[in-house]
Amino acid sequence: MKRKKVIEIKDPQLQKIRNNLRLMWISAVNSIVGGYLDEQRNLLRNRMNSFEMDQYAKLVRKNEKLRRIVNRSICKCLVCQKADRDMVFNPITKVWFCVHCYELNREYYKHTKDARFYP
Ligand SMILES: [Zn+2]
Repeated sequence: MKRKKVIEIKDPQLQKIRNNLRLMWISAVNSIVGGYLDEQRNLLRNRMNSFEMDQYAKLVRKNEKLRRIVNRSICKCLVCQKADRDMVFNPITKVWFCVHCYELNREYYKHTKDARFYP
């Protein structure tokens, strides 16, 4: 997306559905991340050979990738981590913020040289 986009849902029932879908998705990702962390812990129990060290590095990369996807998704705010709010997409940073955090940042940076980061 190249423009600022605000996604707001007014209907409380639709908000509830949205929030539950977000939590289900986050929970599914956390479950995968937990599996990777278990595998990492198992590898750390003994002295690792080069194959195991490669496996460990791959697991770290997979975890980082999943966390980055979740943190940049519309499902939760990068700043406050809340998953039950209306969201704003920042086209400069390519990250979703909740409306509250976005406005706080925008107000904070309004009179600085970094104001362009919050259109
Ligand atoms: Zn927030």
